[in-house]
Amino acid sequence: MATSLSQRPQLQYLTAQIDELKQKGTHFRLRILDDVQAPVCTYDGKRVINLASNNYLGLCDHPRLREAAIQAIRDFGVGSGAVRTIAGTMKIHMELEEKIARFKNVEACVVFQSGFTANAGTVSAILGKEDFIVSDELNHASIIDGARLSRAKIKVFRHKDVAHAEGILREIQNEPGHKLLITDGVFSMDGDIGPVDKLADLAEKYGAIMMVDDAHASGVLGRNGRGSIDHFHCHGRVDIQVGTLSKAIGAIGGYVCGSKDLIDFLYHRARPFLFSTSHPPSVTATCIAAFDLLESEPERIERLWDNTRYFKAELGRLGFNIGGVNTPASETPITPIIIGDGRQTMDFSRALFDAGVLGTGIAFPTVPEGKARIRTIMTSEHTREQLNQALEILGKTAKTMGILT
Ligand SMILES: *Cc1c(COP(=O)(O)O)cnc(C)c1O
Repeated sequence: MATSLSQRPQLQYLTAQIDELKQKGTHFRLRILDDVQAPVCTYDGKRVINLASNNYLGLCDHPRLREAAIQAIRDFGVGSGAVRTIAGTMKIHMELEEKIARFKNVEACVVFQSGFTANAGTVSAILGKEDFIVSDELNHASIIDGARLSRAKIKVFRHKDVAHAEGILREIQNEPGHKLLITDGVFSMDGDIGPVDKLADLAEKYGAIMMVDDAHASGVLGRNGRGSIDHFHCHGRVDIQVGTLSKAIGAIGGYVCGSKDLIDFLYHRARPFLFSTSHPPSVTATCIAAFDLLESEPERIERLWDNTRYFKAELGRLGFNIGGVNTPASETPITPIIIGDGRQTMDFSRALFDAGVLGTGIAFPTVPEGKARIRTIMTSEHTREQLNQALEILGKTAKTMGILT
């Protein structure tokens, strides 16, 4: 039997906070996947239609990606053995970076262990305490953490409010520090698209560095999933593009694209790059195969958007609040079903699961108080039949619980 630490007083204050979550009804248990990440799969022993993963293009178990990973293990082993700057840069790491740079139409790229470390490592490396970060209020936590680590002055503009962002830039234009203007390409909780083109105009007008976090846009928006910069025809106007390898690409990792010197600087100064071991070769090989697929199987992205349009329209027809009134309306495969109350949202999520749908409830602090929701995400691999079945369960369960009348 494991030694018990739970009677010790040191961490009792954490137990008290857990108890509080339980009282509020927002405490959760992790759902455990028994098989493969797929449109229909088994969590906690139950078959469910999966509306919760970021596996947009079904690449998590694509046969060509599996093969690439297995071959890389045969050829190069299972670990890289060191951080990139000491002894852990393998040929395959360079190959992936060159491939992403070509795909994104930029000079250079650096891959990090995750999208989180890509954002946090980059923002904290390029800014110091004399500098300013001008950031959308709904930007991802990894941007916020990077900003805090940099000790730069953080100025937050209202969600997608370009005029507010301009007001802030104007206020600080005579300050000596560098200014970083930053937005998510696609916002992860509401599924709306950041005004990348208009912010790029502002960045040029005020001499700010322009940065976009395209975690949810990579593989989803733009030609062959090239992201929001491609979607808005903003090539050459965004200094720093971040993407993830953990969502549509189906594996794990993050990357930063930009000029040769930006990437060289990050090689020298980004702390996750310097102090945390590089990807095992299998992960890197998986990602290389995934970028090949984006080029060779664009029909996956078409199917993703087909499913997205269908599912959104049907959710609306059922009468769900999917945003748009006082909240931004989703324009991407992420569609929130806004419930409002945290406890009711978690109850709804559990009832959906029992009825055969995995729709994860998201409450405060991940989204604002009173804006709790079930966040649904489409993939290219959901069949119409699965979607119709999920919609039926959503409608029935919501009526039983008085969410829909
Ligand atoms: C998921 C996400 C990240 C983090 O990416 P990981 O590769 O999962 O670490 C960063 N930014 C945004 C907007 C995200 O949605």
